[in-house]
Amino acid sequence: MKYNFTPNDKEWHQTLLNAFENLLKLQVKPVLVYDRKQFRKYLYRGGHNANSVSAECIKDCGIIWLSPFLSACPKVEAVNTLYHECLHIKYPDMHENKVRQLADKMIPITSVTNSKKKKFDIVHKK
Ligand SMILES: [Zn+2]
Repeated sequence: MKYNFTPNDKEWHQTLLNAFENLLKLQVKPVLVYDRKQFRKYLYRGGHNANSVSAECIKDCGIIWLSPFLSACPKVEAVNTLYHECLHIKYPDMHENKVRQLADKMIPITSVTNSKKKKFDIVHKK
């Protein structure tokens, strides 16, 4: 089965991203990408398979990739994920657990969905 975001999905992703950028006063403009070319050079240290995470982010340049699997999930998960990645860009040194906590506080997702995710995302410095 192939997962894909619709043009409609991409429109609200972008709208939210603009809002989060303003809300968090990000110095680095977040850029949403859907294909993984930008991440090719990272394939893949640490043994994390990108297919098992919700998103990936390069903090320094603000590039965010969203997993197409999210297109089959409740929309709140994509919203939470976008906000989560923006927090990584805003606070590059913040610990993953703290980022997750802040994002989940702002955009609550159910504990059920949360617990089955072993690793939320992959984050690169540069
Ligand atoms: Zn994270």
